[in-house]
Amino acid sequence: MDGSHLPRRTLRTASDLASEGLARDGVEQVAARYAVAITPAMQELLHVDPIARQFVPDAAELTLTADENTDPIGDQAHSPVKGIVHRYPDRVLLKPTHTCAVYCRFCFRREMVGPGSESLDANELAAAIDYIRSRPEIWEVILTGGDPLILSPRRLSEIVAALSEIPHLGVIRLHTRIPVADPARISDELVAALASDKAIYVVLHANHPGELSEAAIAACRRIIDAGIPMLSQSVLLRGVNDDAATLEQLFRTLVRHRIKPYYLHHADKAPGTSHFRTTLAEGQALMRQMRGRVSGLCQPEYVLDIPGGHGKVPVGRSYLDGDIVEDWRGQRHAYAQEAATKAL
Ligand SMILES: *Cc1c(COP(=O)(O)O)cnc(C)c1O
Ligand code: SF4
Repeated sequence: MDGSHLPRRTLRTASDLASEGLARDGVEQVAARYAVAITPAMQELLHVDPIARQFVPDAAELTLTADENTDPIGDQAHSPVKGIVHRYPDRVLLKPTHTCAVYCRFCFRREMVGPGSESLDANELAAAIDYIRSRPEIWEVILTGGDPLILSPRRLSEIVAALSEIPHLGVIRLHTRIPVADPARISDELVAALASDKAIYVVLHANHPGELSEAAIAACRRIIDAGIPMLSQSVLLRGVNDDAATLEQLFRTLVRHRIKPYYLHHADKAPGTSHFRTTLAEGQALMRQMRGRVSGLCQPEYVLDIPGGHGKVPVGRSYLDGDIVEDWRGQRHAYAQEAATKAL
């Protein structure tokens, strides 16, 4: 790293990018259409190409394919009140804000997120929490957005406190990229805002081992040391993490720091993201290699969010084929499920 130049502010415009030598072809058009933000913490890591690829706008984003969709996972059809997505009976998404610390070029909500997008105001938030309170079948609330940890500790603690009072809730889960994107935000005050009698889980979004800087790991440690378990979710991205060695290092680093890999998402069909998408067969082949390379603790589930709002399902390959089961080396073994009884 060049110590003479310490980045100090988040880059948000084409001219900000140009001043840092990051303006690629088409950047003006891309920045006019989709939000851009590269925090100081991420600027320090842009020499790692798979990290730059996730945050620096690229002309490839202007290419739309026929199957891409502004609402790639069909959230809108399942939004009964503003800020809520209720797709499965027992759990809802609650999106208090559409702001993030960084804007990922492959984001599945890229049509919704951005600094100009409105957050829920006090009345809308109250209505969203009323919706949850009035439905006893809801057991888990997933705070997402945007990024819920961009909220001030005061606003966050108000939301956590209101949810904590709902008797039928068991779990409050927060999905965030802040520990990686802006680790300094994970202050003791912010962690204290997550205190609850409910089970709180924090799910970190991280895609490349290089994102797990010392500062990012220290931010996660503050959360975990407060008694909050952490999981991770990653998106399988071409040119970022679509090789077994990178995934192995990512999952090992996470587990080494007490973060359990939860999901590896197949990249959603958000507009202008085809350059990031692998095939499902490539994802399955990578997950198969993971089976032999890393411990079960390091295995996320490979999932696809079915376009149209039908939910997420595991899309890893099956190791069972009739009465044949395949081991991690690819060797096949007979497994009789209904053997005849033997006389003693
Ligand atoms: C992803 C998602 C969830 C959470 O799903 P899990 O499989 O429990 O992690 C819940 N609701 C919606 C609408 C989602 O998109
Ligand atoms: S942090 Fe999450 S919601 Fe925000 S831009 Fe990145 S992927 Fe999208």
